[in-house]
Amino acid sequence: MKYKLSRTCKDCKNVDVFELTKLQAAFSHTDDIDKFWNVNCSVCGSTNCKMINKESVKIDEELLNLWGMDSNLSFATQDEDIILADVAYFDIILNSIDDDRFLDKKIDLLTSALCILLFDNIVSPEEYTSSENQQRQRIAALVVKALSKRKSSIIRAQYLISDYVKKLVFPKLNI
Ligand SMILES: [Zn+2]
Repeated sequence: MKYKLSRTCKDCKNVDVFELTKLQAAFSHTDDIDKFWNVNCSVCGSTNCKMINKESVKIDEELLNLWGMDSNLSFATQDEDIILADVAYFDIILNSIDDDRFLDKKIDLLTSALCILLFDNIVSPEEYTSSENQQRQRIAALVVKALSKRKSSIIRAQYLISDYVKKLVFPKLNI
């Protein structure tokens, strides 16, 4: 599957579409994408670019495995743990978090992501409906179960974990 990057010309409004591979789309960062700002418009030749739009990639097991074993790959220049703190990624994170081929830094990011996922599902219940809170409690219980077995990993990853996350999450884990 190809992923699209579109570039809108500021002068003639033409939209040029470029194709990225899954790996390019997943691991391209600001610097790689910035190059498209300077490409000539295919219609008027202008290098004035109005905007660049990159299709986002859902992280799957293949991407997570590549990422976990290669220090040069990142999903974003910062806050990768926030990107990974998504219930949609919970299962693939659990499949990888004990993989000893994964680099320590990547395991720390996965651990931090689970802490953020727990935080997101316990913070401010008053802002959610009761059925939303039931769903959040179910997710929180699964994450607590996963994290409770990994206290030493959490201690190791705590340099990545924000204080406001620690404050709410650590007591739930008896840390
Ligand atoms: Zn143009």
